[in-house]
Amino acid sequence: MPTAADLDAAIRDVPDFPKPGILFKDITPILGDPDLFKTSLELLAETANGEKIDKVVGIDARGFIFAAGVAHILGAGFVPVRKKGKLPWTTHQMAYSLEYGEDIVEIHADAVKPGEKILLVDDLLATGGTAAAAIKLLKALDADIVGISFLIELTDINGRDALAHPDVHSILSY
Ligand code: AMP
Repeated sequence: MPTAADLDAAIRDVPDFPKPGILFKDITPILGDPDLFKTSLELLAETANGEKIDKVVGIDARGFIFAAGVAHILGAGFVPVRKKGKLPWTTHQMAYSLEYGEDIVEIHADAVKPGEKILLVDDLLATGGTAAAAIKLLKALDADIVGISFLIELTDINGRDALAHPDVHSILSY
């Protein structure tokens, strides 16, 4: 099976997308390759360190792809944190700023029960604004956040400081 180095080799750097100055990390070559995709999910699932996870929470939109696969591997449920206006039922909301704009994320008010063990998953950690907003939503639901895992971490932005959690994992750092 492929390794993290193979995932690294597959990621496509796209300069100035979606706006000038952003070097976009395109993970679609990983998704399109069955072995690379499987490896990415398995490496993310390993970040749970064998802990029993009740729910894997994924962040809109690329986070869903990885979080759903990780939930399947861990035998956990999947919960979406979505951009404003997409979830149909009662939600909690949190505003946040990200590397290229501002937005609001939401979670269904009954998506996580108090004390449930959560692994939060997204494709990429930049400023940490998005994940920090998701963490606030999960804390509002009294979730037990076991870990926060990213396929990619852009380390020079120090986004993990914004998460203020002891178990932040990334498979690839740039
Ligand atoms: P942030 O809130 O700054 O940590 O931004 C993280 C979110 O924005 C993730 O969900 C990524 O999908 C997306 N994102 C931010 N910067 C990049 C980048 N350079 N390449 C790809 N996706 C990015």
